[in-house]
Amino acid sequence: MKKLQAIRGMNDVLPDQSVTWQFLENTFSTVVKRFGYREIRFPIVEQTQLFTRSIGEVTDIVEKEMYSFDDRNGVNLSLRPEGTAGCVRAGEQHGLFYNQQRRLWYQGPMFRHERPQKGRYRQFHQFGVEALGMPGPDIDVEVLQLAHMLWQELKLTEHLTLEINNIGNSEDRKAYAKSLTEFLTTKTEMLDEDALSRMHSNPMRLLDSKNPEVQSVINAAPILSDFLSEASKSHYTKLKDMLDSIGINYIENARLVRGLDYYNNCVYEWTTDALGAQGSVCGGGRYDGLVKQLGGKETYACGFAIGMERLVLMLDSLEKVPSSEHKQIDIFIVIIGEKLIPQGLSVASKIRNEYPNLGTLCHCGGGKFNSQLKKAYSCGADVAVILEEESCEGKPINAKIRQLDDSNESKVVEISEISQELRSFLSI
Ligand code: ATP
Ligand code: MG
Repeated sequence: MKKLQAIRGMNDVLPDQSVTWQFLENTFSTVVKRFGYREIRFPIVEQTQLFTRSIGEVTDIVEKEMYSFDDRNGVNLSLRPEGTAGCVRAGEQHGLFYNQQRRLWYQGPMFRHERPQKGRYRQFHQFGVEALGMPGPDIDVEVLQLAHMLWQELKLTEHLTLEINNIGNSEDRKAYAKSLTEFLTTKTEMLDEDALSRMHSNPMRLLDSKNPEVQSVINAAPILSDFLSEASKSHYTKLKDMLDSIGINYIENARLVRGLDYYNNCVYEWTTDALGAQGSVCGGGRYDGLVKQLGGKETYACGFAIGMERLVLMLDSLEKVPSSEHKQIDIFIVIIGEKLIPQGLSVASKIRNEYPNLGTLCHCGGGKFNSQLKKAYSCGADVAVILEEESCEGKPINAKIRQLDDSNESKVVEISEISQELRSFLSI
């Protein structure tokens, strides 16, 4: 029978690879705790409307990338393509934002039907933080500081660049979009199909077009910064001043518009050149209009999402995962002879209680001494505890503790003393 395969663009993470994932996840959860952010979990499937209303009808995600389907009751549902919409829906539904400030984080799989390639998948994972109820720019800077600390902990700072832009409030953008559309109508012969279909509905999406011809049109187009209100300029200037004073470097990128409609004022991306074309590892900004757009009260908000696969690729290719993270087993129990299996299992339990932070592997399935010892070496254990039937005939059962290094130092000990005696063999 033909073997079944995973769906294209949806990855399995095998045990050797999950070491990097765990390192990343542990680092992230340590950092968010340091900043007082609390975890929120929300479903992977939501009503499609949630995403069309928040992300925007004329966006790549909603137009081309969503996994949408009717369930058995005929309700149109979608696999979440990002986290902010679900996070806001959940917080709003449970009254979390009612006259309150919230600092939240989430993590989990997202789904977008894109062309799979390195760093771009159909099921991928994001970490996100969302801060609600604070007008900024102090909170915008705090959120950036959190990302920055994460890069520090992962030793990736030198490989990442922060790009920022001010995209103004919705009034500013409306005025700009109008003028941009007017300009574009005079250049239709140079626009591609995508650009033509968006020049009326969402002309700002053309700013980050990858098509060089469209780019050359944009080079001559009106610029957004001429349309920004004083309030939005002042927010942005204060934000840059704060970043300067806390020493977070950035570059300004006037073309940065982000692929989701709900953003306003400052938006940003952390990018890297370590990944080829998929250079964006984290994207975010303010989205003050979103809560209201989804039926709640006007609420200040900002946040970002990090693409975990891209960070995993960076951590692996730049060899940033500490070698200690790869170590899974410290103590390996070798059992020679079926009669000793119960003792072996109970010794293992005792050791695990005594050294709860170490990994103790009790060999199962029998086998010769040499083959078991070989396994002990190959799994990277520091110490083997050897229980041999021969040693117990007529005598109290003894065990041998053996250092698995060049010294091969060993000691015969009473079985009841193993976990105590182990201490001098383990460098703890
Ligand atoms: P890109 O420009 O690379 O398509 P995006 O602007 O669509 O990214 P966002 O919606 O801002 O991405 O999502 C935040 C982060 O999630 C991105 O910076 C990226 O690291 C990651 N990401 C987005 N789409 C994918 C994907 N299909 N596969 C893997 N990671 C992704
Ligand atoms: Mg995208």
